[in-house]
Amino acid sequence: MEVNTVEEEINGRKVLISIVRDISKRKEIEMEYLSTKKEMAAKVSYLATHDILTELPNKAVLTKKLKDKLKRSENNPFAVFFIDIDRFKFINDTYGHSIGDILLIRVAERIKRLLCKEDLLCRYGGDEFVILVNGRENSAEFYKIASRIVNRCSRRFKIRGNELYISVSIGIAIYPDMGKNVDRLLKHASMAMYSAKKKGGNKYQVYVSKEDTQYFKRYSLFGYLNKALQKNEFLLYYQPQLELVTGEIKGVEALIRWFSPLGLINPGDFIPLAEDTGLIIPVGKWVTNTACKQNKKWQELGWIDLRMSINVSAKQFYQPCFVSTLESTLDDTNLDPESLSIEITESIAMEDFESASRIIRELKNLGISIAIDDFGTGYSSLNYLVNLDLDFLKIDRSLIKNLHTQGKKKNVVKGIINVAHNLGIKVIAEGVERQEELDFLKDHQCDLVQGFLIGYPLPVRQGVNCFKY
Ligand code: C2E
Ligand code: MG
Ligand code: MG
Repeated sequence: MEVNTVEEEINGRKVLISIVRDISKRKEIEMEYLSTKKEMAAKVSYLATHDILTELPNKAVLTKKLKDKLKRSENNPFAVFFIDIDRFKFINDTYGHSIGDILLIRVAERIKRLLCKEDLLCRYGGDEFVILVNGRENSAEFYKIASRIVNRCSRRFKIRGNELYISVSIGIAIYPDMGKNVDRLLKHASMAMYSAKKKGGNKYQVYVSKEDTQYFKRYSLFGYLNKALQKNEFLLYYQPQLELVTGEIKGVEALIRWFSPLGLINPGDFIPLAEDTGLIIPVGKWVTNTACKQNKKWQELGWIDLRMSINVSAKQFYQPCFVSTLESTLDDTNLDPESLSIEITESIAMEDFESASRIIRELKNLGISIAIDDFGTGYSSLNYLVNLDLDFLKIDRSLIKNLHTQGKKKNVVKGIINVAHNLGIKVIAEGVERQEELDFLKDHQCDLVQGFLIGYPLPVRQGVNCFKY
């Protein structure tokens, strides 16, 4: 109600006249108008700050948030990821734009699931996304996130009955080392993304300045490798070994990965350098320690008889304190020596046969088991099989690949299994990728198998072990 009171003089007397009006209808109309206006304003502001297709914040929001962040950052590192879908035009041309649109939405969803609440994912334009990744414990964490995004996006997308396989390239610029303002950070991240694309895509690449490129050329990977341990850039992946008689996972092999500023690097590309420079000693210690700790954790979770296999290189193996260091690692991690297996290659065993047999004896006395890795690629000497006290022989994957179709390979593998069994050595087949290979190995009493068919090498996710058992 609205009340208006006026004073009037009527017949020489002062009177007060109040006019009472019902204004509820008017108020209703006013409110409606205001809320429509508010809604409109909200809509306009949403449209100005979001991408309609993916509903992600847009470039304008990114720039503003980045500016705010730079004001508050006080040199605390954070990262800018520039992501681009490889050959997206091909998807649009082949499947049509509406499938391309859905793909963009799905890619955005997958990426978002890998980020923290505080990180900001934006659609930058077309098939480009930019992420503002908040500070993590160290820069290796940024690389791990990037690697997870690359992996996750390479998995199959199912859209309206089509199976799509794509890949993404990511460029990373880390504040403050790789840019101190919005333009620099975005430019450097996109330059790194193009460099990842040039190398074939499906990878991440950290921005490397011109000076760094020259440095990189001069010193190769060494400059980075030198700092990798300290920067926590290594991670162990674990690949299961299946026992054929019981159908149980009885072992895992620890395989090192390096999340370097230049992308994910496999051991084949940096172990030789680590060996040449002597860095293999601290790296090897880290591997042993991490793998033993992990095995202890798995055993405590109920996987009692799990055996952990570790690869060692010649430099490590022939170090005077190799056995004693292993012994103290076992003590420190409280791991039973029977739960540890050391993998050496044929060439290591042959390098200095006498020392090798002594070291193997010492390891066996402790209770550690020994495996010969990659058997069949080197000397394949029967002499050392007879004279060394071995527990396992790992048949190289080159002999396993398509063995069911090749009579000669079948005979060689049958022969190796027979010889090994006659000497009391168990056989592990490496690189088993097909059911037919596994069937053949089972029919011929191979003891254990390892390969993509059983499980890929995988990292341990926090608190969850990576194999279903
Ligand atoms: P390896 O010990 O013979 O390890 C098996 C290799 O075969 C691994 O490669 C593994 O990812 C790959 N692999 C496993 N299953 C399959 C399959 O079904 N198909 C195919 N195509 N490949 C398969 P990765 O991880 O790249 O390791 C390569 C080599 O690097 C290893 O060969 C090992 O000699 C060495 N290495 C790995 N980790 C370490 C480490 O911590 N220390 C040392 N010194 N060497 C290591
Ligand atoms: Mg191995
Ligand atoms: Mg091998």
